[in-house]
Amino acid sequence: PPAVICRAVAKTFAGGTEAVRPLDLRLEPGQTTALVGPSGCGKSTLLRMIAGLEPPTSGSIEIGGAPPAETLRRADLSVAFQDPSLLPWRSVRGNIALALSLARRPADARAIDELIALVGLEGFGDTRPAQLSGGMRQRAAIARALVTEPRLLLLDEPFGAVDELTRQQLAQDLPRLWEARGTTTVLVTHSVTEAVMLSDRILVLSPRPAAIVADIAIDLPRP
Ligand code: ADP
Ligand code: ADP
Repeated sequence: PPAVICRAVAKTFAGGTEAVRPLDLRLEPGQTTALVGPSGCGKSTLLRMIAGLEPPTSGSIEIGGAPPAETLRRADLSVAFQDPSLLPWRSVRGNIALALSLARRPADARAIDELIALVGLEGFGDTRPAQLSGGMRQRAAIARALVTEPRLLLLDEPFGAVDELTRQQLAQDLPRLWEARGTTTVLVTHSVTEAVMLSDRILVLSPRPAAIVADIAIDLPRP
């Protein structure tokens, strides 16, 4: 069954801002989809609705046949947002370990260290977020999102503060990991380059309220 189905999903905020107009969307399991579109068009709102963090005004969302809230409860879903919201009193390793613990998964020091290395934070496992740069905090949040091996991974501008060189490295390494795990990934970005490098499919959204204006399959050999 498809991983994510949106049926006539729409969002109008209290106050009258229409962020997403009724849209139908079907994301196949194991695919990486990038949502691109002008700033303020409703990308984050759509992602937050898929995450179960924002109720749609109308329409319905199903993830593997269940509503998003149930997916969250089963810890099959991970999110990494532009604002990484790491716990300040825990180290990088402690923040990643906490995600495992909240998902009721055994602590796995090796998996944690591998992910710390994957996002280029070797040597910073014991460092607290306040001692890291903004880009390093975003990378720690990506590692935290990956550690539970979610079936569905939702990323909202995850590299906004990440330096260009590291971003290019991540753009090579992360899709390999998603493909190996069969993760269904949705990535919000304003960078078409990032979308092309990271995804199998690009959905271009119109200015607010978001509607899908182009649906592009990307079939590039991975570097
Ligand atoms: P994008 O991610 O594409 O930049 P957003 O989904 O964040 O866009 O926002 C879409 C529109 O909805 C914007 O006009 C934004 O100001 C508005 N918006 C977002 N969140 C809220 C909210 N909680 N209450 C009211 N308006 C909101
Ligand atoms: P500090 O904030 O004092 O640096 P942390 O609380 O972040 O310490 O973590 C200390 C150590 O405990 C970490 O190295 C981490 O491996 C381990 N740890 C922290 N939280 C958990 C958890 N929820 N599950 C398993 N191990 C954890």
